[in-house]
Amino acid sequence: MSNIKKWSSESLGITIEIDYDKCTGVGECVRVCPTQVYELINGKSAATNIDQCIQCCACVAACPNNAIKHSSCE
Ligand code: SF4
Repeated sequence: MSNIKKWSSESLGITIEIDYDKCTGVGECVRVCPTQVYELINGKSAATNIDQCIQCCACVAACPNNAIKHSSCE
């Protein structure tokens, strides 16, 4: 059973998926994202503000657990 959460931005045409089996809530994505896309909810990252994403891929590179998949960063 996968435990992958998905956020989409219709205006930007992008998706962010976070594997909650891998996410430890360490918060590196929250720290590095220049536009505050992420927040921690109950110890897991959530891409709540995906509409603010500038598709820089810093979050994908920063995650020590490879938990983030971004449609623009593959
Ligand atoms: S790609 Fe860049 S702007 Fe978009 S969520 Fe990741 S760190 Fe933030």
